[in-house]
Amino acid sequence: MTFGMPETYPRLASMLGFVSRENIIKAVESIVTIQRDWGNRENRKVSRMKYTIDRVGLDVFKEELEKRMGFALQPIAPYLFTRSGDVFGWSQNVDGTHNVLLFIEGGRVKDTENYLLKTALRKVAEIHDGDFLVTGNQNLQIRGISEKNKLIIQLLLDHYKVLPELNKTGLRLNSIACVALPTCSLAFAEAERYLPSLIDKIDELLIVNGLEKDEIIIRMTGCPNGCGRPYLGEISFVGKSPGYYNLYLGAAFNGERLNKLYKEMLDEENILNELRPIIERYAKERFEGERFGDFTIRKGYVKATTYGLNFHT
Ligand code: SF4
Repeated sequence: MTFGMPETYPRLASMLGFVSRENIIKAVESIVTIQRDWGNRENRKVSRMKYTIDRVGLDVFKEELEKRMGFALQPIAPYLFTRSGDVFGWSQNVDGTHNVLLFIEGGRVKDTENYLLKTALRKVAEIHDGDFLVTGNQNLQIRGISEKNKLIIQLLLDHYKVLPELNKTGLRLNSIACVALPTCSLAFAEAERYLPSLIDKIDELLIVNGLEKDEIIIRMTGCPNGCGRPYLGEISFVGKSPGYYNLYLGAAFNGERLNKLYKEMLDEENILNELRPIIERYAKERFEGERFGDFTIRKGYVKATTYGLNFHT
């Protein structure tokens, strides 16, 4: 979305129906051609397909899709999303090989004085006979590790303190930040370089309240374009100007509900002052298993965003 343009908004995908594997390419090609023919070519800010769908209506879009594909969509198949974050640590494949999913803060692979992450991954790459997978949450999975390499890789990751990183708070392990400054020329504020130190301070609030193991999704971007998916954070910050952020609350942990604007133009002190009482109440008043985003809605901090079109209301 764009600040000051309420006609722009983030939006979750709409479910259209089910297509079998052999029909996927035909379906995708037809979707792309509808957007080519029906998309807004005059105003780039509202040119994306979400706006095309909301302008013509989902039923009209679906009818056109079926016409172009030459067959009808099947009814939506049942599905269940329980989380949108990564499950860290070791897992095993059906072929007996192993994977290990690592936390990469801000998605940045680099060496620092106290943490030689890049060196560690280089050492692993020298002996690894499988592959590497970058996850949609800025993390990294070392995949297809053979039995003979498992112990060596485990020792390497322990030696370089990569595996112990998984002992971070549930908040930090569920953090995403876009690159923002200095890489992105569209950024109004810091994100990737600043979020870790802000999390240090929010972690203190969580630890005092016994919430350090609780998984809470936190996101930060340097502008409202949303490259770090900030509108899907239970706690999110979108940069407005250097050192100042809009705070959003209330997204669903499983990725099926967007958040909503809670407060505007907060500096670090005000961010912590706003979050402190909410975190304290969450520790004391939450229901068994209740997620932070759901709690902020139940307690009236924000209204639930049920659809992209009511994101701003
Ligand atoms: S969200 Fe904005 S600041 Fe961040 S990478 Fe995207 S365009 Fe740049």
